[in-house]
Amino acid sequence: MKAIAVKTDESRPQLIDVPVPEPKEGEALLRTLRVGIDGTDHEVIRGNHGGFPEDDGYQILGHEAVAVVEDSNGTALEEGQLVVPTVRRPPAGTETNRYFERGEPDMAPEGHYVERGIVGAHGYMSEFFTSKPEFLVNVPDSFAKFGFLVEPVSNSEKAFEHAYASRSAFTWEPESAVVLGNGPLGLLTLAMLETSTSPFDRNYCLGRRDRPDPTVDIIERLGGTYVDSRDTPVSEIAAVHEPMDFVYEATGYAKHAFETVDALAPNGVGALLGIPSDWEFEVDGGSLHRNLVLENKALFGSVNSNYEQYEAAIDRLKEFPEWFVDEFITGVYSPENAEAAFEDGDGVIKTVVEFDTR
Ligand code: NDP
Ligand code: ZN
Repeated sequence: MKAIAVKTDESRPQLIDVPVPEPKEGEALLRTLRVGIDGTDHEVIRGNHGGFPEDDGYQILGHEAVAVVEDSNGTALEEGQLVVPTVRRPPAGTETNRYFERGEPDMAPEGHYVERGIVGAHGYMSEFFTSKPEFLVNVPDSFAKFGFLVEPVSNSEKAFEHAYASRSAFTWEPESAVVLGNGPLGLLTLAMLETSTSPFDRNYCLGRRDRPDPTVDIIERLGGTYVDSRDTPVSEIAAVHEPMDFVYEATGYAKHAFETVDALAPNGVGALLGIPSDWEFEVDGGSLHRNLVLENKALFGSVNSNYEQYEAAIDRLKEFPEWFVDEFITGVYSPENAEAAFEDGDGVIKTVVEFDTR
């Protein structure tokens, strides 16, 4: 079957031919429809995550997928059902551990999980893959084209849940939010904040692009206010616009982690999602510390998501305006042209590799 992989000691994605995987007992065979690409895939290609599956000499890419149950193989799954796979699995050679047993694999520390398509396990960018049913979430038939977005949206569902939990000891009635970053994760999160059931009235999104730009168009069409960090640094957002009840960082620009505290309103909460590389710079630690304490602010980091957050993401995606997915998915590529799906450029927001249609 066709698979898109990166080989050990190489740093480019390529089409390879590998056998169709045999489902083990308790596993089903899935037929892949679409697999989305994000920044993490680029890091895997660059070798930043390391940890290829043992002995294979290559890593099949892709962690954002939508697929169809091809062969239920005696499991309770229904053949033909549309599903989205979760990312984390117990480490190779182990069946489970306490994090998976609790349904909280997203809270497992390093060494207690592998991530399909990212570290230690093959991903979903192939015509078929296998999985246990407990790592598959059913999605409606209407999700065939955009169901792969359930994974990134679930990451933000987790961040929202943790943000609310951190403010649950008092009456928190948030109205304003800023998303730092107009990449795919930032735009999806802004769309979540702009749904009709969201309590947030005023949402902002930070970028560093000149108009005209498709991400700025999406921000404004969603109803958000575009903030250009070249004119308004994060530390000045509170003064120029308003103090924010919620800051969601998705730039991976390390200074934003600290400037988030300045952007927050009293009693506000900042969620850090970006994954920066090492960078040393000066921070006024005293002011940061004081500001957090005297204004009852919270700051936390968040990665990955659990099963319930996948389910929440499905409901959330149903609320997205119809035009959003069309504007957001800027390229659909065949496996043969998959290399082009990994190219960045003006006008590229989200690309997908399509193996099959429903
Ligand atoms: P991208 O790198 O595509 O998006 C980052 C965006 O932030 C880009 O549009 C970039 O603008 C913008 N940006 C960067 N620095 C600045 C700045 N100084 N001022 C204004 N805008 C800036 O990544 P994704 O959207 O895919 O993901 C966002 C981050 O979240 C990444 O670090 C990623 O690794 C991480 N991530 C974390 C997850 C988690 O579970 N914690 C899940 C998925 C992703 P431009 O394009 O113009 O350069
Ligand atoms: Zn991702």
